[in-house]
Amino acid sequence: MEYVQAAVASGELGGGGAFTARCERLIAERLGVRRALLTNSCSVALEMASLLGRLGPGDEAIVPCFTFPTTATSIVRRGARPVLADVRQDTLNLDESRVEAAVTPRTRAIFVVHYAGVACDMEAIGAIARRHRLLVVEDCAQAIGAAWRGRPLGSIGDLGALSFHQTKNVVAGEGGALCVGRADLVERAEFLRDKGTDRARFLRGEVARYSWVDAGSGCAPSEMVAAFLLGQIERADAIHATRAAVWRRYFDEFEPLERAGLARRPVVPPDCATNHHGFHLLLPDEATRDALGRHFRERGIGAVMHYVPLHLSPMGRSLGYAPGDFPVAESVASRLLRLPVYGHLDTRDQDRVIECAFAFLCAT
Ligand SMILES: *Cc1c(COP(=O)(O)O)cnc(C)c1O
Repeated sequence: MEYVQAAVASGELGGGGAFTARCERLIAERLGVRRALLTNSCSVALEMASLLGRLGPGDEAIVPCFTFPTTATSIVRRGARPVLADVRQDTLNLDESRVEAAVTPRTRAIFVVHYAGVACDMEAIGAIARRHRLLVVEDCAQAIGAAWRGRPLGSIGDLGALSFHQTKNVVAGEGGALCVGRADLVERAEFLRDKGTDRARFLRGEVARYSWVDAGSGCAPSEMVAAFLLGQIERADAIHATRAAVWRRYFDEFEPLERAGLARRPVVPPDCATNHHGFHLLLPDEATRDALGRHFRERGIGAVMHYVPLHLSPMGRSLGYAPGDFPVAESVASRLLRLPVYGHLDTRDQDRVIECAFAFLCAT
């Protein structure tokens, strides 16, 4: 609140001011990327990534079918085609063994999504990208603070998109950032973010006035949002730690359920350091998932399913996809239930969630 008050008092309410610069420096340092640019959302950052990758009509980009719609929307808005691929049974991430079969002469990019803060196999995906000269965009909406083989997610591909939406780990209500690892993309990323102008150059004193240089848009959040976000970024480690404790407790307590074959816990491969963004149970079938979800909600516990696989959505169907195309995602989506994970979830409330799960699953 101090930072927000300071932003308001400064009178500099538009984007690109001192708080924005402080957030961007911290993000770039922490991730080890050349430049981080605050945006109004991860969705906007993904759209900037598609523009930077110069996707256009006739082009294709590979996307997991189990993700939030805007991963694919960023491609659709360039007139290009999202080519969906199935996910892995364990991490629910893009199945790297299916990516190469989806590559065609029109493929320009691979968009990976690190589901619930658990990294994709970036070695396999990177190798395919190098072989076919594809851009790699990391949708890190759920993955801030997570790593793969010690490397921060968002810094491994050519571009990374973060989200500060209220549902993520580090929040600003709405907000996001584009992380640019490649030096040759930095300047254009600034143009696109700054309404298609070279205002960033002007502010650095590199040009006498700024003007229209590219097809950008109003992608920058206000200083009030950046001020709020700065407080969150400065506390990111503490935020991650409290979520980790909640996540770890579910993981330990539910071990007997998994051993009895009643529910499967999230899988975190050894290469992955998760940010504990989400905790889900995979139930044996859809009816059990739906009944357990009802059981929780009747007791005031916010347990929810997750994505409708994109190929089953109206947009996916209009792209020519049909039920049965991606059986792993279909199965997972019908059996997945997410449990409450947030830093201030108190121990007694978490006890109730755990007791409810056992009471229901062990009785049926
Ligand atoms: C939340 C989310 C988004 C969208 O983030 P916004 O900041 O709300 O635009 C995109 N992709 C994934 C995987 C998400 O979880």
